Amino acid sequence: MPAPTPAPTPTQVPCPHCGRPVEWSAASPFRPFCCKRCKLIDLGDWLAENHRIPDAGEPLEEDQPPADQVWPTH
Ligand SMILES: [Zn+2]
Repeated sequence: MPAPTPAPTPTQVPCPHCGRPVEWSAASPFRPFCCKRCKLIDLGDWLAENHRIPDAGEPLEEDQPPADQVWPTH
């Protein structure tokens, strides 16, 4: 008799957020993340990084007219 075919091992990928092995199948609806929480956290971080970029650098006001013309204070 031929040897029994071993059960197919589901492909696993590490969760991009916490590194836990995630089964790459329909059983893991949040793949490549291990859970909804990791997916939301990672997505939130990504969005936060994008939103943070304009504020992280130098102020983008060099091309604008003097502040007095834009923000009259008197
Ligand atoms: Zn995770």
